[in-house]
Amino acid sequence: MALPKIAVPKYTLTIPSTQVEVEFRPYLVGEEKILMIAAESANETVMMKAVVDIIERCVTQDINPKKLKLYDIEYIFTQLKSKSAGESSEVIIKCDECEEPNTISLNVDNDVRVTNLVTKKSDFKIDITKDIGIALRHLTMEDALISDSEESQTNQVFSKIIQCIDYIYEGDTIYDVREEGTKEMYTFIEGLNSKQFKLLSDFIEKMPRVELNTKFKCTKCEKTNKVKLTGIDNFF
Ligand SMILES: [Zn+2]
Repeated sequence: MALPKIAVPKYTLTIPSTQVEVEFRPYLVGEEKILMIAAESANETVMMKAVVDIIERCVTQDINPKKLKLYDIEYIFTQLKSKSAGESSEVIIKCDECEEPNTISLNVDNDVRVTNLVTKKSDFKIDITKDIGIALRHLTMEDALISDSEESQTNQVFSKIIQCIDYIYEGDTIYDVREEGTKEMYTFIEGLNSKQFKLLSDFIEKMPRVELNTKFKCTKCEKTNKVKLTGIDNFF
């Protein structure tokens, strides 16, 4: 005899970059196991792949998570987690005054927000000289999955900048950067002066991301600590 099927509730969320509302169900024990195994690996790429997998399973519509922005994925995951594992989760954070470890409870529904979500159209174009400019885009999950976390910090910044470049233009001529190849792109970036380069690194810095802000009063010295958590590994 077939065992009874357990009904699963449905919820909705709005994808930050597209403002499209989608329906999702909480993840279940079998899926939680996938996340736990990924967390044990402590490897960011493995964790991100597990998150993509869970989003594909739990969101009812076909949204192709790899094509979504990185901050969309972080946001969707926090919403899934809050409806699956409970709205609050506990983390241990050291007081910045006395270093006492404090156990604090994070409330995903109240404390999570996407920063810098509104990016002006003009922010996506940077003039390098009078004629030459760069058109930029926000990183997608696909970009994050192919980036190499073993690379040095500096090389990672370079790779990220190159991934963010949509195209380069000179007057009316448009250069497709996917056709140019990575070596050409490195040469182009290395040929910038530091002021021009800063415009690009500022773009990366100001990219929207999911932030969890909260505060707690230290149990030992009573100092009020402000906490800001970012990055998918912090939301696991
Ligand atoms: Zn303290």
